[in-house]
Amino acid sequence: MSENIQNKNTCAGPECDREVRAYGLCATHAQQKLRGRDLIPIGSYVRPAKEGCDVEACNRKHYGLGYCFQHYKAQRAGRELKEIGTREVRVCEFPECGRKHLALGLCKQHYRAQKAGRGLGPIRKYRKKEEQG
Ligand SMILES: [Zn+2]
Ligand SMILES: [Zn+2]
Ligand SMILES: [Zn+2]
Repeated sequence: MSENIQNKNTCAGPECDREVRAYGLCATHAQQKLRGRDLIPIGSYVRPAKEGCDVEACNRKHYGLGYCFQHYKAQRAGRELKEIGTREVRVCEFPECGRKHLALGLCKQHYRAQKAGRGLGPIRKYRKKEEQG
C-alpha cells in the first residue's frame, strides 16, 4: 500500500520538505522523534526577532516591541531612546528639585527635611538669604 507520497524523499514531519535522513524524517525531525517529542515545524524553533534590544549599544534582554524593558518603557512614553547607562543617575523625586539623590528618593536636603518631620518644600526656602554685596 503506498501512502500519499508527493515527493520522493522528503521528510514526513509537519511543514517540512527536507531530505529524509532516518525514519522517513529529516535529521531534525528524526531527533524530535528520538527524544519522544511531538514533531513540530522546524520554523517554530526560529525566533521571529532577535533576542536583544533594538537600540544600538544596548545589549539588554528583549522585553517587547523589539526593545528591552527600559527602552520599551521609553518607547511607550514617547521618550527618546538613548543608551542606558550601566547605572542611571538618580535625582531627587521632589518636583523641580533635580538634585542628586541621596536616599528614599530624595536629595540630601529633602531627605533631612523628611527625617526631621518637616514638610517638603522647594530647596530654595531652606537656604539662607544670600548676603548682598
Ligand atoms: Zn523534517
Ligand atoms: Zn535597550
Ligand atoms: Zn530634593
